[in-house]
Amino acid sequence: MDLTPLTEPLDEAVRVVARVAPALSRLKIKRVIDLLNHFPRTYNHRVNINQLKPGMYASVTGEVVSAENKATKRRRMKLTEVLVKDDTATIKAVFFNQPWLTGRLLPGMRVRLSGPVDYAYNAWSMKPSNFELNPPPASHGLEPEYPLSEGLGSEDIAALLNSVMDRAALIPDPLPQALVEKLRLMPVAEAYKQAHFPDHMKALEAARLALKYREFFMLQIGLRLRRLSEADDAELAIAVDDDLRERAMKYFPFEFTDAQKRVCGEIVTDLTTPGRMHRLLQGDVGSGKTAVALYAALLMLDNGYQAAIMAPTEVLARQHFANISNYLKKTKVRVGLLLGGMRKSERDALMDDVASGKIHILIGTHALIEDYVKFMKLGLCVIDEQHKFGVKQRAALRAKGKRPHVLAMSATPIPRTLSMTLYGALDVSVIDELPPGRTPVKTEWINRKREQHAYERIRTELKEGGRAYFVYPLVNESDKIELKDAISYAETLKNRIFPEFRVGLVHGQMSTAEKDEAVGLFRSGALDILAATVVVEVGVDVPEANIMVIENAERFGLSQLHQLRGRVGRGRKQSYLFLFGDPRTEESVKRLNVICMTHDGFRIAEEDLKMRGFGDFAGTRQSGLPKLHIGDFDSDYEVLHRARIDASRYTERVDNDLIRACLELHFGRRYRLLDV
Ligand code: ADP
Ligand code: MG
Repeated sequence: MDLTPLTEPLDEAVRVVARVAPALSRLKIKRVIDLLNHFPRTYNHRVNINQLKPGMYASVTGEVVSAENKATKRRRMKLTEVLVKDDTATIKAVFFNQPWLTGRLLPGMRVRLSGPVDYAYNAWSMKPSNFELNPPPASHGLEPEYPLSEGLGSEDIAALLNSVMDRAALIPDPLPQALVEKLRLMPVAEAYKQAHFPDHMKALEAARLALKYREFFMLQIGLRLRRLSEADDAELAIAVDDDLRERAMKYFPFEFTDAQKRVCGEIVTDLTTPGRMHRLLQGDVGSGKTAVALYAALLMLDNGYQAAIMAPTEVLARQHFANISNYLKKTKVRVGLLLGGMRKSERDALMDDVASGKIHILIGTHALIEDYVKFMKLGLCVIDEQHKFGVKQRAALRAKGKRPHVLAMSATPIPRTLSMTLYGALDVSVIDELPPGRTPVKTEWINRKREQHAYERIRTELKEGGRAYFVYPLVNESDKIELKDAISYAETLKNRIFPEFRVGLVHGQMSTAEKDEAVGLFRSGALDILAATVVVEVGVDVPEANIMVIENAERFGLSQLHQLRGRVGRGRKQSYLFLFGDPRTEESVKRLNVICMTHDGFRIAEEDLKMRGFGDFAGTRQSGLPKLHIGDFDSDYEVLHRARIDASRYTERVDNDLIRACLELHFGRRYRLLDV
């Protein structure tokens, strides 16, 4: 099997004009196979206007009748309406925020518009994703449209593809022959050709299905192979008896919830059987994940190992340190805290104790992966908010021990349906129960007119000893204008709205010491109100805080809102979340409604997934899963499911070396499977 014609650099295989080279490199199209795997984003039906169907992606060609800019009620939106007619009818193209188009699309010009079409009030309209002036005459019915990139048109890609399409015949089929026959899948080479240059709709559908199925199948087998390669390392099975389990539980000032106990049981099984633990622990904020992680650490300590707990922020690392030291204060277990900005002498002393084994549990930020950190015998890595770390950082922490166990934690739940399929081969534990004594947070969406009313209610709560977060969104932590807004917002709260209360501010541009001071004052009760940018999202545990106001709530994603809400509702008092904002899109209205209606993190994650799609899903972006070329975890769920079942049924007949070669070919070095 010679794959070099496929892995050959594209610019050696064909003549690449200088104009398109930057775009190709931006799209990471380096090798011939990368180009073949660069599939159209959509296919436009070239039709006359009177042949359109609502909802279809179409490409129509006609003459510009008029183009004018319209004012809209939504202040920020600029609308341009362009009327285009062909021999059969007229269509209105609607462009957003491109007022200059009226100077380009002049009456009488010929134009081709591509995009989704709609029919309402007896008229056709389109929101074009693409337009082309003086287009070449139409040739066939289905026109591929590739992902947009500056300087690289669909025609350019088609031209390049034409000269390498022959090589698709060399792409190996990862599937056992029996499966291809049973499912009557289109052969690989034909599928590539039809996916790029479809003869007709039916062939296109068959081609895409055949390619998606193969893609998912390869990944499923790849996952299984990875598990097999890990199972054979037999070290690190520790001894855990009932006595130890009971002793470990006694360290905690509370009784574990049933969900926590169940997860502890799963972890004990992992630790006591050969093979290293590689478990993802999911649970809502405040569900008690950290307590479970500490339990696991205690079992390891008793067997002579050390544990490391890595958190994404200093605030969070400090908090873990405070909580865990508190649990362990009457014991001989020694806990250390390592932060990036420590004085060198202090750090050296701490590192000596870690290297000699005097420190049993080391908690810290990503400083834990620095070269100077050496453990005596690291047996367990706990990675909190695992998706905030990159694959490399997580691997670097593991490298501090000799194949240590890994417990990754995440408060951003991956929807059950999805995780079953994706992580089917991995271990996932879920804490789906909150510790007792928590009262659900009352959540309300406050429109601008009712703000005053909300302030009065907050005033009443504060007078009765409540404490409030006011969260101000910074889309980008380095955005100076927004930071200015956040600061002046805090000033307004302090001077005008709540002059009788003590208001502090914490934001991402402050030094750690300043941040800690502000949070500390709020924790101790010296501040009644903490105005904050998103830094409170992770971490901060102030049980007395019972009010949260989120400004411009429409700018936050669902999972983020849910995470933020987890900061209140931790004490006995009734807690409130007020969402301030004027959502402008249907989607943001929906988001706010979902947050008001449910507290179930998994429901929220499912909704988030539905709205945003898998590709954008917070908790999985860093999962290490390769970016798929044609399949979509979201919309191709059924194909994925089918491939998964078949992959397990046909295990015996699969050629593992062939699968490895295929994965390497298609995904190259980006191929890292689900490395939690
Ligand atoms: P997470 O890491 O999931 O956000 P933590 O482990 O930090 O949650 O727990 C949140 C808070 O709840 C902590 O203050 C912790 O002491 C407390 N807690 C954890 N488990 C229990 C329990 N079973 N009963 C009562 N309180 C608990
Ligand atoms: Mg936590």
